[in-house]
Amino acid sequence: MKVAMIGAGYVGLVSGACFADFGHEVICVDTIDAKIDALNRGEIPIYEPGLDVLVNGNRFAGRLSFTTNLAAAVKGVDAVFIAVGTPTRRGDGHADLSYVYTAAEDIAKAITGYTVIVTKSTVPVGTADEVEAIVRRVRPDGDFSVASNPEFLREGAAIDDFKRPDRVVVGAEDNRAREVMRALYRPLFLNETPIVFTSRRTSELIKYAANAFLATKITFINEIADLCEKTGANVQDVARGIGLDGRIGKKFLNAGPGYGGSCFPKDTIALVRTAQQFGAPVRIVETVVEVNADRKKSMVGKIESACDGSLDGKTVAVLGLTFKPETDDMRDAPSLDIVQGLLDKGATVRAHDPQGMPEAKLLLSNQVIYCDGPYAAVTDADALVIVTEWNVYRALDFDKLRSLMSGRVVVDLRNIYDSDHVAQAGFKYTAIGR
Ligand code: NAD
Repeated sequence: MKVAMIGAGYVGLVSGACFADFGHEVICVDTIDAKIDALNRGEIPIYEPGLDVLVNGNRFAGRLSFTTNLAAAVKGVDAVFIAVGTPTRRGDGHADLSYVYTAAEDIAKAITGYTVIVTKSTVPVGTADEVEAIVRRVRPDGDFSVASNPEFLREGAAIDDFKRPDRVVVGAEDNRAREVMRALYRPLFLNETPIVFTSRRTSELIKYAANAFLATKITFINEIADLCEKTGANVQDVARGIGLDGRIGKKFLNAGPGYGGSCFPKDTIALVRTAQQFGAPVRIVETVVEVNADRKKSMVGKIESACDGSLDGKTVAVLGLTFKPETDDMRDAPSLDIVQGLLDKGATVRAHDPQGMPEAKLLLSNQVIYCDGPYAAVTDADALVIVTEWNVYRALDFDKLRSLMSGRVVVDLRNIYDSDHVAQAGFKYTAIGR
């Protein structure tokens, strides 16, 4: 089948490459010339494990190409996916749909023959209806359907998530669209992936409900972690004790500095706004948004307490800047609040991240000192803070840390170390909820 993917970012590029790997002929479109030029040279503009091999393999096989020419790309395809950004709209917290609607107008002008227009971006309930109205207005004669196909991939494991998803959700209002979507995802039938067909509005809401639920689960265990600290309980044991209950499940019960990233923060806020607009407020999610924002800020206080109550004049090594490991994505990362908070309290920040530093340099104060590796970052530091649990930070040599650092404080915001081990190595260890 022929597919056009509008938006060659984290979702569009991975989805496009995976559809090509399924055997479809895919063309990815982006408005950023530099991105498309890089892809045409075989360079991958983002860090996602395995993506270079997947993209270039399919590019050489002639199934995957890249262009800035949307009109040419859309002509004659069976399906065109909209995978553009839907960031928080300034001022009111709703999802900014301007990129989606612009893409819809451009697609409308270019379609030839029957085309399924699919929203893959995360969009509020009712957006597919609006896309349909836009396309109908621009092309009263157009032969098309609009479907919703939210994406559930996780950055860092995106290819595997796309190829072996827990489920595929498709919202469609007619059989023609359903048949095209079924054919596109046919390779997944082999491993019996459930394909959940729903109405478009339901499909749109499933995505927000999923992200809000996961954000709630994280926020729940984070508050339980605070209670553990006050009561002398251990949050990791609590998480295991409750997670083994099949009704609760083990995943998303790691206490930490608060959720961040390109999805949970904006999607929880957008759901809150949509729910208020429809007069059915989701008060749990409203609270989750507030608690999480407070939590990210409160981490600085935790680091300050570990440093005997003052950060002024101290040097803090921050390990990990991206919102999670195995990505270069810095959007809404907890490190943004934490690093700025440390600087505000008079600390010098020496930072390292395996993939996030180029992006971090654009987002963080230029006072931050970027270092080549974890040991360079800790040199002469009073305290070491683990913000993101990259594998390279999981087995640090504590003898070496002792010789390089001037202080003895370790703050582990991801609970990756054993307290006894760190204490025996001569450090004052602070973790989350234990
Ligand atoms: P992104 O910012 O990485 O990519 C979006 C791309 O779209 C950019 O490269 C931008 O230049 C391009 N673009 C914007 N307008 C365009 C247009 N008119 N024509 C062509 N290209 C255009 O964003 P992302 O992380 O890939 O997210 C895309 C959508 O998928 C969002 O709605 C997001 O919520 C959702 N989503 C993201 C993830 C994730 O992990 N990143 C997971 C699931 C869903």
